Amino acid sequence: MKDILPEQAIRWQRLEQTFRTLVARHGYGEVRTPLLEPTELFVREIGEDTDVVSKEMYSFERHEDRLTVRPEGTASAARAYVQHAVAAVEPVSRWYYLGPMFRAERPAKGRYRQFHQAGCEIYGDPGPACDAEMIDMCAELVRTLGVKDFVIHVNSIGSGPTRTRYREALQAFFEPNRAALSEDSQRRLTTNPLRILDSKDPRDLELSAGAPSVVDVLADDDAAHFDALRRHLDRLAVPYVVDPRLVRGLDYYTRTLFELKITTGELGAQDALLGGGRYDNMIGNLGSKKPVPAIGFAMGIERVLEVTAREEPKVGPACYLAPMSADAIGPALVLAKRLREGGLWCEVDGRGLSLKAMLRRANSMDARLALLLGADELANGTVTVKDLGRHEQDRVDQTKLAEEVARRLALPTVPVSEKASEGG
Ligand code: AMP
Repeated sequence: MKDILPEQAIRWQRLEQTFRTLVARHGYGEVRTPLLEPTELFVREIGEDTDVVSKEMYSFERHEDRLTVRPEGTASAARAYVQHAVAAVEPVSRWYYLGPMFRAERPAKGRYRQFHQAGCEIYGDPGPACDAEMIDMCAELVRTLGVKDFVIHVNSIGSGPTRTRYREALQAFFEPNRAALSEDSQRRLTTNPLRILDSKDPRDLELSAGAPSVVDVLADDDAAHFDALRRHLDRLAVPYVVDPRLVRGLDYYTRTLFELKITTGELGAQDALLGGGRYDNMIGNLGSKKPVPAIGFAMGIERVLEVTAREEPKVGPACYLAPMSADAIGPALVLAKRLREGGLWCEVDGRGLSLKAMLRRANSMDARLALLLGADELANGTVTVKDLGRHEQDRVDQTKLAEEVARRLALPTVPVSEKASEGG
């Protein structure tokens, strides 16, 4: 779990703003759900045999409630969608969320215990065009955020009959080598053999390499959905590959699965920036009167920030007010208040430092103007305005200060990095 200090938070805010703007253009509205949900919600929807539910949830009991700090956003949003009977009033809904998720995973580069996701869900549209539109939006999103080298893996794990057939095919494949599987996977072989395919245990990985592929057993309607999805992706020129080994670590998926991976290798095994898929049964499972198909994805914010440019242009206050004596501090507060009322970013240094120390501070903050208030200025109702980029200074009447400052700030800036070092 990490602290995000103000300097880094600027990058987070930019990313969040880009995400919000882009998804709003695609018709998504924000949903905000509680961080805590009944444990049962995640156990039922994500699945008992998944790593998330069996090993990683932060769960506790309080006043007879069993609660879990959300490990992902899809189940919570679906719970809210059903609880508020949204399906009764809207045939199609597009929701997005942003926020922290919690999984007690083994920490690694790109893998944290509190991490943040930005995700989208579409309820009520069963078609492959909807899947393609979402996958294309994901590509546009990461591109806009500055990720260049990536590829999208897509797969279909089918729906009901396909799943039953695939489960049997996997059991038949792994059974003769049961003893060579990890203990967890020996159990999964009976309960949920699909989960063996996303095990990270080296014993399971080796055996899984030759496992049958789900595309070989897709039912006709599942295969038609997958074909149509690929045709749409081709038309949209989305960079994708079909990856029959992609199963993803949550049980609720049906048909379309996708994962966007960077190809630069800089995140090692944690190369997925976002992942998602269709989950056509969840809304019905959660007790909705009407079964509603759905699809969603979640993007890992930390990972995107780790692979995109770190440099943010430094921005400092417009005005740095430097009272040059103790009795100038009060009047400086009043002046700064007036400038802020006029919409300007001002900071007052009320520490009683020397002029030289205050100018050093103003420069290091990248302030545009230093406003000096000393005995002379107080006596004749002026302020000395020092342009820190242009090395010019003059006196301005206090009553005209806001308008003078605004006029000077409208002039082109001299980047602080190009400023000569100043003595004060
Ligand atoms: P998931 O909810 O498991 O489908 O993950 C979706 C995305 O969230 C992944 O592609 C990652 O970018 C991100 N993510 C998942 N787990 C973590 C974690 N423990 N730490 C950081 N990012 C994560």
